[in-house]
Amino acid sequence: MDGGTGRGGPITKTPAEIDAMAASGAVLAECLDMLEAAVAPGVTTLALDEMAEEFIRGRGGVPSFKGYHGFPGTICPSVNEEVVHAIPGPYVLGEGDIVSIDCGVTLDGWVSDSARTIPVGEVGQVASDLMDATRRSLAAGITQARPGNRTGDIGAAVQEVVERAGFNVVRTLVGHGVGRSMHEEPQVPNFGTAGTGVLLEEGIVIAIEPMVTEKDPEVVLGGDGWVVATRDMGLAAHFEHTVAITASGPRILTRRAG
Ligand code: MG
Ligand code: MG
Repeated sequence: MDGGTGRGGPITKTPAEIDAMAASGAVLAECLDMLEAAVAPGVTTLALDEMAEEFIRGRGGVPSFKGYHGFPGTICPSVNEEVVHAIPGPYVLGEGDIVSIDCGVTLDGWVSDSARTIPVGEVGQVASDLMDATRRSLAAGITQARPGNRTGDIGAAVQEVVERAGFNVVRTLVGHGVGRSMHEEPQVPNFGTAGTGVLLEEGIVIAIEPMVTEKDPEVVLGGDGWVVATRDMGLAAHFEHTVAITASGPRILTRRAG
């Protein structure tokens, strides 16, 4: 999920705690790999949700999103113009759709948070370019996640990649610190000015999560009180990793082990 309304400043983690978060993140990465392989025309978003919950619980984890402010699902499967926070349901994925799957795992009390946008069958050129630019913008943002940099360095790097590709970053939804809680300080915007924002110190763990729109970046809240979609109904993509700030550089925690 996106957000970030924590209190009291960033909470630094010890190397052992970061290892524990990586164990959580490895379960999440495997879960998303499984879901990516399952995405196909004819599959409902609720079926994906059930697969995700079974997988996470089978690995000894807990779905972090389930029950969060009353959210009913394990994943947020946001389709096409939906940006984030879609509720799983009877929607049947169709050829040419794109589905952004956001998921969180809590393992031994440590939360990991990751998302990726997945094509359903063959998708159009714009959708393909949008996913590619969003994935590349996340990689550019991660490169800036090192001690001594600031959150604005991440935002500026993300924004530059996105806008050079002709797309836009959502302003009203941001990345966030993550740890024992899903949303800690600092907020990590996907736009900004290099050299500004919160100082990134060794041991801070953040979820970097560009949310990128095909056209206008304005978003609206859906009638269910959860799903956020583009106002102009243009496509949206979302890629997210949980990343630790370490002395040796950024460490992506939401990756498979080994
Ligand atoms: Mg998040
Ligand atoms: Mg997320």
